[in-house]
Amino acid sequence: MTTALPVPDPAALSDAQQRGAECVWCAKPLTNITAHDLGARPLPEFGPTVRWYPRCCPTCRKDRA
Ligand SMILES: [Zn+2]
Repeated sequence: MTTALPVPDPAALSDAQQRGAECVWCAKPLTNITAHDLGARPLPEFGPTVRWYPRCCPTCRKDRA
């Protein structure tokens, strides 16, 4: 089991970052090849079962791993 990296508050992120289209930390556009999936995170403001799927670029992943 891996430890989930802490991610920014989704309320402070752009729509593209919330969708996983851009890195959650540096807002760099992501492709399915370069994106690192950070795993589903709860989004309690939108309901008890709502999740969002943050993704990041390889650079940020390396810096935070
Ligand atoms: Zn990044």
